[in-house]
Amino acid sequence: MTSESPHVELKVLGAPARYVQGRGATQSLGRELSHLGINGPALIIASAIVVEQLADTWSASLGAEGIAFQMRTFGGECSQSEIDAGLDAARSCGATVIIGAGGGKCLDTARAVAGELGLAVVNCPSLASSDAPCSALSVVYSDDGVFDHFLFYRRNPDLVLVDTTLVANAPVRYLVAGMGDAIATYFEARTVIEAHANNQLQGRTTLAAGALARLCHETLLADGLAARHAVEVGAVTPALERIVEANTLLSGLGFESGGLAIAHSVHNGLTAAEETHSMLHGEKVAFGLLVQLVVEGRPQAEIDTVLAFHRSVGLPVTLGEIGLAHPSDPTLAAVADRAVAVGETAHNEPFDVTAPMILAGIIAADALGRH
Ligand SMILES: [Zn+2]
Repeated sequence: MTSESPHVELKVLGAPARYVQGRGATQSLGRELSHLGINGPALIIASAIVVEQLADTWSASLGAEGIAFQMRTFGGECSQSEIDAGLDAARSCGATVIIGAGGGKCLDTARAVAGELGLAVVNCPSLASSDAPCSALSVVYSDDGVFDHFLFYRRNPDLVLVDTTLVANAPVRYLVAGMGDAIATYFEARTVIEAHANNQLQGRTTLAAGALARLCHETLLADGLAARHAVEVGAVTPALERIVEANTLLSGLGFESGGLAIAHSVHNGLTAAEETHSMLHGEKVAFGLLVQLVVEGRPQAEIDTVLAFHRSVGLPVTLGEIGLAHPSDPTLAAVADRAVAVGETAHNEPFDVTAPMILAGIIAADALGRH
């Protein structure tokens, strides 16, 4: 991550050019592309399950607008080799737009391919599992899933289109993980604002970003549990629509234009522990948020509110619940070291953050979660 020091402090807010959400939204994909003046050909990079669910709808919707497309099935990790394969596919079909359809890593890959080729990019998340779809950055991992680096782009996506029918029919764990990512948004933005630090766009936060982060928080507390119940029975309800918007749009703008702090650094640290690789981004961020609040010395009442939210919707509150039931000392030390690496967002805190502070925060958060 770069940390340029500009001569003047400028507020910066970034957002997708267009955001579309609702039941059966995929049917409108072709019309939305035409509306934006995107005529194809398109390369669709999609998870295997999404190809199965949507191939017919894409044919009908893009076909109706005369937009040619090819599909490439996503391999599962946003790694350099996966990005390279996407670049080859895009060049060979002469794509003018890259459409990512699937989970966060699939969309990250689509953005990386489009960014490299300077093409328009459309994100169609099939899950509301992370804050990534609206952003102008990707997280690149090694082929075996260890956090490697961020990629930053000039622009946010041209279009983010969320089909809530897919979200409602996905395993509930993904929606819950998205709430874990989203519940951190307000607290991380608050820290960045208090510290007069930069957001993820290397600018200061706007009032708008702060307000979106607060609305994200309020929406999660109000509708999180009802949305969980809706997905358990595959129902698209107003509460689910609001949580999808909180997880995707409010958290997406909130983290990027509001900024990140310890919670996401602890997530990045945890990727250094093999045992956590089966855990989702938002599940690790949720635990990282508890660490952040402990390290920041926040009032116990605030920490208790977050713990209660986590427990009510089913987010992890202990190391055991993120795959580290019996972590070795070297494992935890590696996590803490990784969390404070140069350029990590832990350094957006208004005080110096060290590995021993993070280690103590991890152990203390785990103890709070267990009691
Ligand atoms: Zn996140």
